[in-house]
Amino acid sequence: MFILAQIAWLSLVGLWIYWYVSNYVILQLVGEQGLPQIVSKSTNLLALVWGLILLVLVLGGMYFVFIYLTKQINITRMYDSFIANVSHELKSPLASIQLYLETLGMREVPKEKQREFLDSMTRDANRLQNLINSILDISVMEQKKMAFNFKSYSAGELVHELLESSLEQFRIPKEAFSLKGTISCQIRADRNALKIVFDNLIDNTLKYTVSDYRLIVSMACKNKKLILEFTDKGIGISAKDQKNVFKKFHRISGNHIPNIRGTGLGLFIVREIVKAHGGKISVYSAGENRGSTFRIELPIHQKKEWEDSKSS
Ligand code: ADP
Repeated sequence: MFILAQIAWLSLVGLWIYWYVSNYVILQLVGEQGLPQIVSKSTNLLALVWGLILLVLVLGGMYFVFIYLTKQINITRMYDSFIANVSHELKSPLASIQLYLETLGMREVPKEKQREFLDSMTRDANRLQNLINSILDISVMEQKKMAFNFKSYSAGELVHELLESSLEQFRIPKEAFSLKGTISCQIRADRNALKIVFDNLIDNTLKYTVSDYRLIVSMACKNKKLILEFTDKGIGISAKDQKNVFKKFHRISGNHIPNIRGTGLGLFIVREIVKAHGGKISVYSAGENRGSTFRIELPIHQKKEWEDSKSS
């Protein structure tokens, strides 16, 4: 549609130039008779050049409006699918909790089964809580009101602590996890915000691995940076999608993607938090079904500053 409009527009400009050039002499005569004081020999040529400049400006403006509209349409589309995903994400754990409660209320349920039900309800309640937190985090971030509580930490201790807590929360079996590297640098971080980062990345490794779950976390302190990598052996991400996964609401669809719950908010929140720490995040995947690696780089808090802040 846009290309057709441009062709029509350019044809009109071409016709106009053709008409102008072929009627140049008549226009000159009319001008000289009507307003001889302002018509010089070069006036018509000048008018033509200015006319062309104006047309180019209008054309440029149209192009920008088109780009802006396309972006808006994409955002609206993603937003619609986000609403559909969120509604589903809210309804399904709630329905499952309701069902367990009704069963517990109506029948005599054996003790072991009760434990099982309670575990499932806790999982569903956690799911709901994570979703609600994500939505609240997003709205705070949108308004740039997220208050970070930065403190100095030994990176090694903090990473171990956060990993331990996330691994337990997501019930990752010990044999499926490996940690590589040792570090002895310091960072300035908001512990709770980094917990959100770890939780989202680890939750994703679970969600986007269909079989043979593996999680490898590697850490290093080099070139004044703390480098953390979260690698899984899951469904992978194509080169084209790697550019988009951090965008708000973005979810990958395709035949190789199993039907997995989600809202497309997690990685956006992760990137915003990493940015607020002065760091950056990137993703690498050799392609579909070949696993993914999310790499975070955070600035190291210099040893001198760290000691100063500890003693103050
Ligand atoms: P959500 O998981 O709720 O859809 P995210 O922002 O966490 O939202 O992720 C965005 C998209 O990036 C996901 O929909 C998924 O397609 C892709 N993705 C994220 N993590 C992984 C991963 N570890 N492996 C493969 N794809 C992933």
